[in-house]
Amino acid sequence: MLGLMQDWPLLCHRIIDHAAKFHGSRRVVSRSVEGPIVETNYAAIRARALKVAQRLEKDGIRLGDRVATMAWNTARHLEAWYGILGIGAVYHTVNPRLFAEQIVWIVNHAEDRMMMVDLTFVRLLESIADKLPSIERYVVLTDSAHMPQTRLRNAVAYEEWIGEVDGDFAWKQFDENTAAGMCYTSGTTGNPKGVLYSHRSNVLHAFMAALPDCKGLSSRDVVMPVVPLFHANGWSLAFSTPLVGASMVMPGAKMDGASIYEMLNTYKVTFTAAVPTVWLMLLQDLEKTGQKLPYLKRVVIGGSACPRAMTKTFQDVYGVEVIHAWGMTEMSPLGSLCTMKPEYAQLSGEAKLDIQQKQGHPPFGVDMKITDDHGKELPWDGKTFGRLKVRGPAVARSYYKVADDPVFEEDGWFDTGDVATIDPYGYMQITDRSKDVIKSGGEWISSIDLENLAVGHPKVAEAAVIGVSHPKWAERPLLVVVLKKGESATKEELIDFMRGKVAKWWLPDDVVFVDEIPHTATGKIQKLALRQRFRDYRWPTAEAAE
Ligand code: AMP
Repeated sequence: MLGLMQDWPLLCHRIIDHAAKFHGSRRVVSRSVEGPIVETNYAAIRARALKVAQRLEKDGIRLGDRVATMAWNTARHLEAWYGILGIGAVYHTVNPRLFAEQIVWIVNHAEDRMMMVDLTFVRLLESIADKLPSIERYVVLTDSAHMPQTRLRNAVAYEEWIGEVDGDFAWKQFDENTAAGMCYTSGTTGNPKGVLYSHRSNVLHAFMAALPDCKGLSSRDVVMPVVPLFHANGWSLAFSTPLVGASMVMPGAKMDGASIYEMLNTYKVTFTAAVPTVWLMLLQDLEKTGQKLPYLKRVVIGGSACPRAMTKTFQDVYGVEVIHAWGMTEMSPLGSLCTMKPEYAQLSGEAKLDIQQKQGHPPFGVDMKITDDHGKELPWDGKTFGRLKVRGPAVARSYYKVADDPVFEEDGWFDTGDVATIDPYGYMQITDRSKDVIKSGGEWISSIDLENLAVGHPKVAEAAVIGVSHPKWAERPLLVVVLKKGESATKEELIDFMRGKVAKWWLPDDVVFVDEIPHTATGKIQKLALRQRFRDYRWPTAEAAE
């Protein structure tokens, strides 16, 4: 027997309809790429998104066509997403920080028909446009006054382009499993892989993301997505924020500490989210200026492990609650968030920080387990490491145009490639990427734990730990450190700082000081590049680890 409830497909554009209807005048502020700060609201965003949809259709874009965006977080980018998906086309966010050859590969693989691009990236695209034959038209996200001279194919200024239609248009209707968006993972090896979100997965994920034990969003929040929309589906903020009718503040192209601070403070942002590197810049800036964060209440930090020292500073110095989160492009992207269950809610000080080192527990809609290499489930004791596997309605079941990738297991689980523990209360902690874990004498050492410890040293700006081959132990940890400006330190000083905080045999055998640690286009430490750089590294003595 079927239920007798209405058939109401979970389509993403219903979110902007809801925001426009019930929270229509809620402010959306952007730092425009042209410079000035501009204000709009959900009602206006919806009206303009309808124009985008109507105009796309006039250009022949149809259900299932891919429309790329290479753009910062602004209201224009947001309305472009809704306009694209509102006719059943697919927004494809292209990360401008990728190498040019990777961008070429991704756009060709996706067969994007159109590209919406911010002024900042016009030159970059001009340099590769002859290798992008599928793109029929470039829409530059600006007005005619700021439109540059460009030889990009059929280039037009966005404002002029949408100005050619009247907005008298209705969203298209289609099945909720229709593709809505696309994002390529910036895999460290092999070609990038396309993840194809559906309307249904995005809507369900937005519900999950807004829940109190996730981001805990409400219409009273002012949300600033610092994480770019081109990272991992923008961490769902383009959907979960209008879903609850919260106000939005978009930082545009200026991602430095001072500019982020200006937006946080001027617009009284209560909630924000980004990777640790962004917050490192902000905190360093605040330390210098002595400024405070009187309005900010919560910050979600993920994408890579949030160092303990960062959590502590945000909470103790600025009164901002840190929510450590883990996820993946393949998971839309949220997988778990470290909010406090009753079992941990009474903790404070160092004991609370101990828990906040964990990546947390999954919301409804994400199932999780850890297994050994043979697929046998491992215990939830908070100590046993295993391969982390997940499943759920917003988890990928295949990559775009890739048949039978073994990470999608036959029984419906997705092997994340992360190694993790789960504690008795269901809190997961990432110990490593499976390829980064250091295998010493048959045992595993977590590079992330060591990195977190090292960045706790007051002179250390950033740290990475890699496994380097060792004649006796197979691999031993090498600590690579960037010191804070003007600081100097000895190897012994850093190792001594770590001593007693991890098992003795985990301590790095050597420390090298560098000016910079390489990062991927999504802000993660590029372990592969580091391993290559230290390929010929030799331990000071072969007995170093004894
Ligand atoms: P991406 O798909 O680019 O978002 O990358 C996903 C990967 O980032 C995960 O598989 C993890 O290896 C890593 N990651 C994400 N969040 C965290 C976190 N909080 N701590 C440690 N690693 C993380």
